[in-house]
Amino acid sequence: MKRLLILLAFTVSAQTRQVVITIDDLPRGGDNPSANDLAGVRAMTEKLLQPLRGTQAIGFVNPGSDTALGLGEAGLQSILKQWLDHGLDLGNHTHTHPNINQVALAEYTADILRAEPALTKARGRRPVYFRHPFLHTGQDEAARAGLADFLRSHNYQVAPVTIDNSDWMFARVYANALRKDAALAKRIQRTYVEYMETMFAFFETRGAEVTGGDFPQILLLHANQLNADTLPELLAMMRRRGYQFVSLETALRHPAYALSDGYTGPWGLSWIHRWAKAKALPTAGEPAEPKEILDLYRGRAAAPPR
Ligand SMILES: [Zn+2]
Repeated sequence: MKRLLILLAFTVSAQTRQVVITIDDLPRGGDNPSANDLAGVRAMTEKLLQPLRGTQAIGFVNPGSDTALGLGEAGLQSILKQWLDHGLDLGNHTHTHPNINQVALAEYTADILRAEPALTKARGRRPVYFRHPFLHTGQDEAARAGLADFLRSHNYQVAPVTIDNSDWMFARVYANALRKDAALAKRIQRTYVEYMETMFAFFETRGAEVTGGDFPQILLLHANQLNADTLPELLAMMRRRGYQFVSLETALRHPAYALSDGYTGPWGLSWIHRWAKAKALPTAGEPAEPKEILDLYRGRAAAPPR
């Protein structure tokens, strides 16, 4: 009987993993320039948001991206309103998505501030969260500390990412496939869900090694047609793995998120790798993208389906 109770307790805890869904590069992640008019972005957004109702997901906006500028101010506000109307929050992802490794800190922080009016107008108050473009946090100590100080003094909370992945690569080859090869597009969707499950498995294991246990994961996705078309299957995969969806606010209360970020350098790393560096743990390599996707991305012909 006692063994049964222990087994039950284990089963329950395994079923209560938590994850925050975060979606970057709103209004659209640039996967399909031919559908960047207001009707195209609205349709993609509506499909993306339907399955996200009730998940407490958050979108990170670039109000100065080419797509956003193409929509115009009112057009962008109408897309942001779609997100808010689905009960989701919005955060600051800079105005134009600059790379902090390539611009002066003052220019970078000015770009953060330029994103605020559109976000404040949509939300009715200033945004709370900041997501670093490319997950780059500063390649040297001056940039890293300078940006961290700026964010603190402007009351921003950093939105870390733990489950990093290459959804953007799949999104690009998917958008190409949609134009000419429906069977290939379907195959890319299937491969994408399998790949994402390997990324979940990797970061679950690595996260436990680094932090000593389970903690709420934070998933990075981008606002694109691939995710709009595949999110129901992706969310089903997460539920199968025992995940419940929580807000950033809830996740960040976990002590894991008070661990030190031990990385200063040019790469955009998962926070799990950053915590590992602070603890001087050896590096762990992430699963690679499938060869077929890499080949398609690099412009080579796809292998025939098996
Ligand atoms: Zn981004």
